[in-house]
Amino acid sequence: MRYFILILLLASCGSDDKKTVEQKPEFIRDISPMPPVFFESFPADKKCASNFKGTFYTKLVDGPSGRIVWNKKEISNSKKLFSSMYINSVMGFMGDGIDVIGSKVKVCPEHLYPERSLEQISINTAASLNDVANSLESYRVNTNRIPKVSIFIQPSKKIYVGSRDEGDETIHYYYLLANNATFNNYESSMYEGPGINIYPASEEFLEFNDQVDSTKMFGGVPFWYFPFVVAHEYGHHYLSNYLWGSKEEKFNFTKLNTPSFVEFPFNKKTNEKRMYGFLHELYADYFAHYVIIGKNRKFKNVRCLEMNRELESFEYYSDFGDVFKILSSSRLSTFSYDEEGDYVQPCNLVFTDKYKVAAIFNYLFVKNNKTLNLSDQKSFKLMESVFRKIIANQFKIIDHYKNNDTDLFLISFMNIYFDSTVFKSEKLEIAKKEKICSDLEKILPALSNEIIYSDDFNRNLCN
Ligand SMILES: [Zn+2]
Repeated sequence: MRYFILILLLASCGSDDKKTVEQKPEFIRDISPMPPVFFESFPADKKCASNFKGTFYTKLVDGPSGRIVWNKKEISNSKKLFSSMYINSVMGFMGDGIDVIGSKVKVCPEHLYPERSLEQISINTAASLNDVANSLESYRVNTNRIPKVSIFIQPSKKIYVGSRDEGDETIHYYYLLANNATFNNYESSMYEGPGINIYPASEEFLEFNDQVDSTKMFGGVPFWYFPFVVAHEYGHHYLSNYLWGSKEEKFNFTKLNTPSFVEFPFNKKTNEKRMYGFLHELYADYFAHYVIIGKNRKFKNVRCLEMNRELESFEYYSDFGDVFKILSSSRLSTFSYDEEGDYVQPCNLVFTDKYKVAAIFNYLFVKNNKTLNLSDQKSFKLMESVFRKIIANQFKIIDHYKNNDTDLFLISFMNIYFDSTVFKSEKLEIAKKEKICSDLEKILPALSNEIIYSDDFNRNLCN
């Protein structure tokens, strides 16, 4: 119960007419139907170091063109964000604690590593974090004050989670993740502290060329090629361990400090978990959008990320005509009450999915930033202050969370947002106010009246 993994995206995108790839996270009996592919690592020579300083070859997705391209990139700042980067490690619960077998990665500048090597994945990850660090510094965030995160490249094929007696047999259970990235908020007394894991790709997933293939899930592209994905995971860390810190426990989620975690993350009350997850995923996407250089906010031909995770897109990705990012009453009701489990196939347009609902709000937020002509820095700071007010329980948002009242929770969230200085300014022109209010009505029709007529609503705005 005291353990959580925030999973960015679960990499199965099954459709009925195609072969379904079953990679739902679940306790499995040792054998993966889709074995992850393990890449080689290379012996480091004397020049190699783990400080990620110098000129490196990166191979990353170029968002607008949808191509995966080699580039030379100067990396100087990424180490401000992470303590160590591990490769070839197997991570799991061993005895009473978490343990890692593996090594810290050492890479040589200017060296061309094979694209499918652990070193290359490490360099790509560091390059993405370098962009994040540069943006944070340009936004005048003091990176020294953010706790450092550990990075695990290829951390595990499977994690042992325990055993159960079934009949006269003892079955050992493992937890499997592949083609994915997660943020894990470990207690530092238990392990090194928070970590970002980049999981291996499976054999099937890697059957791709240099060209993004829009018919495959995530375009057939492993997550370590996307700066946005690494930034998103870092955004979870930034929220959990910098903006919120120990106060995050107000949401009843504590960091891992016990190995008895077999029960989690699957038994947390669905609705409660969804509200908390909604806030986290919303923030992580917003964070990634503003810290990643503009063009990598795009995901051309990357199925499941294109449109869905592009914050400026009013449309979702859909095979069946236009579907827009609008919170209708029926979608809100699905999000609030549907008993369906929390796990959803990432491409499916269902509104139990916190990512899909978060995308609606983020679309509205980014649109308002444009209406207000906010710079990227100001946009970034605006949401930071909103999330600081959330953890201060402004407008009783945490009470609504604890009472399982999704509608009031979301109304409080929007009241906190509209309570921001920028919306209360006397200088805010009438035309902009009107635009903000009409966008609110258009994008959140299920809640706009309740927001506008609630006692907490900023009276300067829509009435
Ligand atoms: Zn996430």
